[in-house]
Amino acid sequence: MPHLSVILPFHNEHSGIRHLMERLYPALGQLDLSYEIICIDDGSTDNTFEALVHERRFDRRLKIVRFARNFGKEIALTCGLRMASGDVAITMDSDLQHPPETIPDLIAKWREGFDVVYATRRNRKTDSALRRVFSRAFYAVFRKIADIQMPEGAGDFCLLSRKAIDAVNALPERNRFMKGLTSWVGFRRATVPFDVGARDSGQSNWSFFRLLRFAFDGLSAFSTLPLRIWTWCGVLVSLGALLYALCLIVDTLIYGVDVPGYASTMVGILFLGGLQLLSLGIMGEYMARIFTEVKARPLYFVSERVGFDPAQDSGTHV
Ligand code: UDP
Ligand code: MG
Repeated sequence: MPHLSVILPFHNEHSGIRHLMERLYPALGQLDLSYEIICIDDGSTDNTFEALVHERRFDRRLKIVRFARNFGKEIALTCGLRMASGDVAITMDSDLQHPPETIPDLIAKWREGFDVVYATRRNRKTDSALRRVFSRAFYAVFRKIADIQMPEGAGDFCLLSRKAIDAVNALPERNRFMKGLTSWVGFRRATVPFDVGARDSGQSNWSFFRLLRFAFDGLSAFSTLPLRIWTWCGVLVSLGALLYALCLIVDTLIYGVDVPGYASTMVGILFLGGLQLLSLGIMGEYMARIFTEVKARPLYFVSERVGFDPAQDSGTHV
C-alpha cells in the first residue's frame, strides 16, 4: 500500500489542534493509503508542543519535530519534506484554512499520474481588503517577471510525489519560497480548487511587513529583472540627457545665452539621485541574500523529535 506523509507547520496553534485532527483523521481514513502525520512545531511559545504530544494518544502515526526557535513556515515545510518517508506528501496549514476534506481530491490527481498537485483557492474572502490588493499585485508582477509559472491562487496546500519531493529536497538554497520551488522543479502539474476556510482559532502570524519581505524574497529568488532593469533605465536617462543637451545647444545658437534655470537643475539632481539610491538599494537586497546563502548556515535546529524511527535520526540539525 502506498504511504502518505502529511506535513503540518504549527506556530502557536495549540487551541486548534484538536479540531484539526478531528477533521484530518476521517479524511485520511477513507484513503486506500497508509499514512504518517509530520507536525513541525516552529518555535511556538504556547503549549502547542504539549498538545501535539497529547494527540499521539489517539494516533501513534503522528510524528513531532520541535524547532529550537521560530524559523518560519517555509523552513518548517522544508524540514517536513526532508523527514517525509512517504511515496507522496501533502503540505497544508494547521489552522484549518486548508480543509482536510480536499485531500482525497489531491490524491485522486496523484493517482492519475500527476507529480505536483496544487489546491488552488477559489476566493480570497477571508483576507483583508488591503491584503487582497497586495497579493493580486504581487502575483501579477510575479507572473510577468519571474522565470516560472505559478498557478493562480496556489499556496502551500499542495501534493508532491516522491520524485517531486526528492527534487525539492535537492535544492540547496536558504531562501525557501516553497510555492516557487515546487513550480520550478517542473514535472506534471495539476490543480484542484478548494474554498479557503476561516481561521479556526488563534490569529494570523503574518504582519504586513513580514508579507512584504516574503513577497520580495519570492521575487528575488526567481527573477533577476529588478537587478537588470537599471541598465535600461541608465540607457533611457542618458538618451534623454543627450537629447536635452542637443536642444540646449540649438537653443543657445539661436537665442544666445539664457539665464540658467535653477528648477530644472534641481529636478535633474533629485531625480537622478533618487534613481541611483533606488538601484543601489535593490542591489543591496540581492547582496544581502547572497550573503545569507554564502554563510551556508544550517536551515534549522531541532530540539526534540517524537515518534521517529531512531535510525532516521540524523542529529539535531540538518
Ligand atoms: N506558521 C509557522 N511558522 C511561522 C508562521 C506560521 O509554522 O513562523 C504556520 C502556522 O501555524 C499555520 C501556517 O503556517 O499553520 C500559516 O500561517 P498563518 O495562518 O498565520 O498565515 P495566513 O493563513 O494568514 O497566511
Ligand atoms: Mg492561516
